[in-house]
Amino acid sequence: MINQENLFNIKQELGDSVKLIAVSKKQPDEKVSSILSLGHHVLGENYVQALVDRHEKFKNQQVEWHMIGHLQTNKVKYIAPFIHLIHGVDSFKLLKTIDKEAAKNNRIIACLLQLHIAKEGTKYGLDQQGLNELLSMPDLSGLKNIRICGLMGMATFTNDPEQVRGEFKYLKSVFDELKSSHFKLNPEFKELSMGMSDDYKIAVEEGSTMVRIGTSIFGQRNY
Ligand SMILES: *Cc1c(COP(=O)(O)O)cnc(C)c1O
Repeated sequence: MINQENLFNIKQELGDSVKLIAVSKKQPDEKVSSILSLGHHVLGENYVQALVDRHEKFKNQQVEWHMIGHLQTNKVKYIAPFIHLIHGVDSFKLLKTIDKEAAKNNRIIACLLQLHIAKEGTKYGLDQQGLNELLSMPDLSGLKNIRICGLMGMATFTNDPEQVRGEFKYLKSVFDELKSSHFKLNPEFKELSMGMSDDYKIAVEEGSTMVRIGTSIFGQRNY
């Protein structure tokens, strides 16, 4: 079972303007059933295989599935039929593949571009230059089956809240800059996915619109 009170409190805290993605990775199926029965249907996984398995298992529960981990181009096809949002897009090649697979499924797939904001930790994500290069690719506007809906980032794993705050502030500033320039005419560019169990409060203060929370809802993961 999951802690209903925790879930309720977190949702209360986030209010209506910040979306909660409950990260069910490495959690038992019973906990997924449990959160679904409490009425929360927005879930995130970081492995394609887990997404595919769980999508199948919980098919008749209308789960909104989020891919929050690093995605390899050769695996996009497995999630393209059902994925709601891909958070960690960090190359044009990946974006092109998502577009192709989305088209095969007659879908438009929402994506977030992942920016590398941490000092250490994850090695994934674009730097500012890579982001600008991606956005200036001449072929980008030809990708009709993807929709870039915002940015995603992960802060450094540290006990220093000011470090974390600075990284989130930076991500928000890049987001705001793009929103008023490259995406000026794209109202769907509006999501900022930042914040996990340990740092979501700071992320929300700094303008997050989506938090990805695992352990604070489900408890420690089984590895
Ligand atoms: C695992 C994971 C989370 C959730 O982490 P918690 O600390 O358990 O809340 C969030 N985002 C990503 C990308 C993850 O891989």
